[in-house]
Formats: sequence, structure tokens, C-alpha cells
Amino acid sequence: MADHYEVLGVARDASPEEIKKAYRRLARQLHPDVNPGEDAAERFKLVTHAYDVLSDPDQRQRYDLGGDSGAFGGAGAGFGGFSDIFETFFGGGGGGTRAGRPRSRRERGQDALVRVDLTLGDVVFGVHRDIEVDTAVLCETCQGSCCQPGTQPVTCDICHGSGQIQRTVRSLLGNVVTSQPCTTCQGYGTTIPYPCSTCQGQGRVRARRTVSIDIPAGVETGLRLQLPGSGEVGPAGGPNGDLYLEVTVASHDVFSRDGDDLLATLEVSMIDAILGTSVTIDSLDGPVDLEIRQGVQAGDELTIRGRGITPLRGEQRGDLRVAVQVVTPSHLDPKSRALVQELAKRTRPAPPHLAEFHPGLFSKLRGKFKR
Ligand code: ZN
Repeated sequence: MADHYEVLGVARDASPEEIKKAYRRLARQLHPDVNPGEDAAERFKLVTHAYDVLSDPDQRQRYDLGGDSGAFGGAGAGFGGFSDIFETFFGGGGGGTRAGRPRSRRERGQDALVRVDLTLGDVVFGVHRDIEVDTAVLCETCQGSCCQPGTQPVTCDICHGSGQIQRTVRSLLGNVVTSQPCTTCQGYGTTIPYPCSTCQGQGRVRARRTVSIDIPAGVETGLRLQLPGSGEVGPAGGPNGDLYLEVTVASHDVFSRDGDDLLATLEVSMIDAILGTSVTIDSLDGPVDLEIRQGVQAGDELTIRGRGITPLRGEQRGDLRVAVQVVTPSHLDPKSRALVQELAKRTRPAPPHLAEFHPGLFSKLRGKFKR
């Protein structure tokens, strides 16, 4: 890989203006529209890339430190530079900047996304969380000015503060005046002679911070909560982007969710199903008393009102619905077996018979049943 300084024919300590001059001179010789030779095209690419790197103070510094990533590997280098120069010398579309107006270093920061893991209990009641967020924050040293304290940006002496360079371009249609962002100040109209050493002149630094948030009840997996203005601070202290929290709700061992209702299976022994009983179950609200009527049937649904989920928009909590699963003993000691046989003689239960198929409200849950 040829040395960028050699490619442009400038000294290693060449000023930005010298680099620009050298580049313009070479581009006029080598641009494919002027010089159709294949060698010229290759050299033009090299020259353009060298200029791309050396005209950007950050990239030039990296290159001087040995960090250039190769011919066309650098961020935004290569053919981006080609089209830039094509526009610079041959007209072409605008650079996105209105003529005569320098652009601001201050830009809005990016949005940030953080994932949050919740339990079903968090969803039922809502939860307060302190969330660690790693984003760009305002540089305390320069307060976003990008300048070493006590110093200021100075008007760019190439574009005299306009951020734009006017060029007269000869084209097939005659002379055309075009306006392009000044490459010395990148269109800002000012340069920063003493960049803040804390943030390297970015006006912001990366930092970990804690964001406190009340996550409302009723959220579900995939939902994104937006916290306006809690994202990244922008370059040069520009306004913050937004922070998004993406919620993932872990599945619960016992309860599952159906809209605002919670579902569970209640395993009831055959004896309790026959005789009825009262039981205290562990709901997500804590212990709840439940009456099981005598003769309760497998698949019967018992509803505990208001022990479900508070909807995201609304206050009326859903219900806790439990489906009865009658558990038949699989082993009986001889005496118990004799008693059940005695019961069979007394009650003469109807023999097994076919009836209409009912998938049942809780067939999905019953599928989980392991016995
Ligand atoms: Zn700073």
C-alpha cells in the first residue's frame, strides 16, 4: 500500500491547504472524465483515498499513528470520496447543506435500547427498576463546547465562517458556480484549535449511568417503553435521543397469562373431589382461600375475581382462573382397595361410555399435566 503522503506528493507535515492543493492538481490530471487511461483510473482511486484520509483530521491522525485500515477499508472512505470529489469538481447534487450556511456541530443524539427482564409478578403489579445504561453523556469538562476550557472555536480561515466553498466549474454548459462544504472545517464554519482533552473534542463521553423507571403493570414481552430524552446525548452537547426499554417477561412455573387473566391448574385428589374441601392457594397476591364444592368435576373452572393482571391502560384487574384436575390414586393398599370396591358395590357407578368431545377451556394447560 503506497504511502498516502507520497501518493499526493506532499510532506508529512503538509498543511490541510497544501494537501487540498496537491489533490486538486492530481484530480485534474487523473479524473476519469479527463484521463480515460486505466492507469489513471487506478491512480485516481489511490489519490482520492489518500485525500479522504489526510483531509479528515481524525482519520489523518489515525493514519499517522499507523491505524489506516487499507485501501478502501476505512469508515466511509473509498468510493464515497470518489463521488464527493466528482461533485466538488464537476457539479452534481448538493451536499445536503444549504449554501452559505455553516452546519452545527450540535446534533440530536441517538436513541438507545435496553432490554429488561421481568417476572410475571412484576407484570401483575408493575415494578420500579434502576436500569444501568451505557451511552454517550455530556462531557463535564467542556459542557459540550468541544473546546479545552478557556478556549473557543475560531472562524475557519478557508471558508471565512460560511462552512461553504464556492467553486467555479467549467462544464459542457459553461461555467457553473457550485457551493460545497468546506473540507477544512467540515462545513462547520469554525475549527477547534484546542479540542477538549477529556472528550477529544466530541463534547460527549461514554458513561454508565442509572435510569430509574416505574414499569407499569400489564406490559408483555416485546413491548417497548419509550423514555423521551433519556437516550444518548448528541454530538457537541446536542439534545438527547430517547431511551427504549424492551420488555421480556419470563414464563412462570405455575401461572400463565390470558389477556388480563392469570391461568393455573388446580390438582384435586379424587377423594377431595368427591367430598369437597377448602384450600389456601398461593396466588401472586399471596394466600387466597378457595372452596372446592363436593363433586367438583375435572375441567371445572374456579374464578378468583380481581387477582389477575392490571391492564396497561385501565385499573380493573383481570381474574385468576384455575382449572380443576382430578388426580386419581395410582396405587392403593389392599385395605383401601377393598373400601373402594365396597363403595363401587354401594353406588353402582355408570360404566365408561362415550360422549361428545370437549377440548375444554384449559386443554392447553392440561397438556402440561405430567401424570
Ligand atoms: Zn469535553
